[in-house]
Amino acid sequence: MVDSAIIGGGVIGLAIGWRLALRGQSVVVIERAKTGSGASHAAAGMLAAGVEVEPTETNLWQLNRASQQLWPEFAAELESASGMIINYRREGTLALALTPDDLRRLTQSYDFQLSHGVELNWLSASQCREMEPAVSSRIRGGVFSPHDHQVDNRLLVAALRRAFLAAGGRLVEDCDARLVQSHQRISGVALAEGEVITAAQTILAAGAWSAQVVGLPDSIRLPIRPLKGQMLAVETEGAPLIERVIWSPTVYLVPRQGGRILVGATVEEAGFDPRLSFGGIFGLMEGAWRVLPALEEAKISEFWTGFRPSSPDDAPLIGEIYPGLILASGHHRNGILLTPITAKIVGDLIMEATAPPPSFLPSRFD
Ligand SMILES: Cc1cc2nc3c(=O)[nH]c(=O)nc-3n(C[C@H](O)[C@H](O)[C@H](O)COP(=O)(O)OP(=O)(O)OC[C@H]3O[C@@H](n4cnc5c(N)ncnc54)[C@H](O)[C@@H]3O)c2cc1C
Repeated sequence: MVDSAIIGGGVIGLAIGWRLALRGQSVVVIERAKTGSGASHAAAGMLAAGVEVEPTETNLWQLNRASQQLWPEFAAELESASGMIINYRREGTLALALTPDDLRRLTQSYDFQLSHGVELNWLSASQCREMEPAVSSRIRGGVFSPHDHQVDNRLLVAALRRAFLAAGGRLVEDCDARLVQSHQRISGVALAEGEVITAAQTILAAGAWSAQVVGLPDSIRLPIRPLKGQMLAVETEGAPLIERVIWSPTVYLVPRQGGRILVGATVEEAGFDPRLSFGGIFGLMEGAWRVLPALEEAKISEFWTGFRPSSPDDAPLIGEIYPGLILASGHHRNGILLTPITAKIVGDLIMEATAPPPSFLPSRFD
């Protein structure tokens, strides 16, 4: 018998597992492939609570902001616990306008964000180019968001895995898990290889696959669906072309170590279709080239797709959904950003019986 069994070895499952193990729990994480092979591998690692806020998402924005504030300490603790560097970078994010229409939209969102207390700076076109000299001479202006940082999400997964194991957690990889029910309660998980693990509570953190996990009670219908994203990465030579994350109306560009730049991402209702599409990749390349013409010389090093775990209101679902079963999924475009706060909310629920924030309870969709 363990205290907690967690289905899913993405950032959400691993971070919850790590934090629970640190608080003295016996924890097992079961991942059907390798840890971080889902959305957590596909992501861009932006921690963008500022530039991403939209007028309809006030509650979500507050959660994003709260998690953003946890990130510096979370990153430092994780690096120390894992002995790994996760490249948490604080250069901020620059959102650019390329056309008069973009400028109008950017002004509107800037006004809205300012009215909600987001710290942002409006920049003229020449100030934008001073900050990032390689951006196109066609840009019309921009907004700089100093607190929208980034992390290398693939290193994050590796560090969480290591920290979880170092804290005494048990990890089972390459093994499908299903829920086991007894006496109107989820009593643990059964592994594809035959082992049954009895757990005081089971945490469902299976990302976009959460609604498909076998053994979900019939009364539970999870409104979580995959939202496909295509991305690509290029390698540039010499001095880094850009220092900070750049947003344009159609794409974002994320600089990584060694001249690597990520270009993302499409947002598609396409089920679990993992194929790249001509239009998707073309749109990313064209959008990126319009912002950063020097990319023409860059070498393409990788293309990929991933599946965001999305919900009807784009916000996560965190809380008990059945006796013995806690859901932590539906993190949509912000799962990397929301990793620290999700681990805290679930940890506090289990260890202190603290109720999760009402706006994110799964019961809001009942
Ligand atoms: C293209 C793209 C770009 C993104 N960019 C960003 C970004 O810049 N910033 C940000 O904050 N977020 C971003 N996201 C969103 C973020 O990646 C996700 O919200 C987050 O990774 C979700 O983490 P997770 O652990 O819930 O899911 P996942 O990482 O998908 O992990 C779920 C895991 O569960 C496993 N699993 C499923 N079923 C079972 C089962 N039955 N048994 C055992 N294991 C199972 C899967 O194999 C998978 O590894 C992006 C997503 C995409 C696709």
